[in-house]
Amino acid sequence: APAAVVETDPQAIALGYKANTAKVDKAKFPKHAADQHCGNCQLFQGAATAATAPCAIFGGKLVANKGWCSAWVKKA
Ligand code: SF4
Repeated sequence: APAAVVETDPQAIALGYKANTAKVDKAKFPKHAADQHCGNCQLFQGAATAATAPCAIFGGKLVANKGWCSAWVKKA
């Protein structure tokens, strides 16, 4: 299985990734909204109900359904 994205990875820090969307730094990412999370992001490569799935932005590493990063795009 692919490795999981860790919040301390340099890319995760750069994109503000948190495994829990509620923990996102609101001051740094003012456009973040509470209803945004990996599970409803266009780049989450799994079922909307999957606990984790690969993310295209992170080179296929696993991100948490409840996670978030600043590259979030609403799933079409
Ligand atoms: Fe989550 Fe989307 Fe960011 Fe990937 S791009 S980490 S799925 S919010």
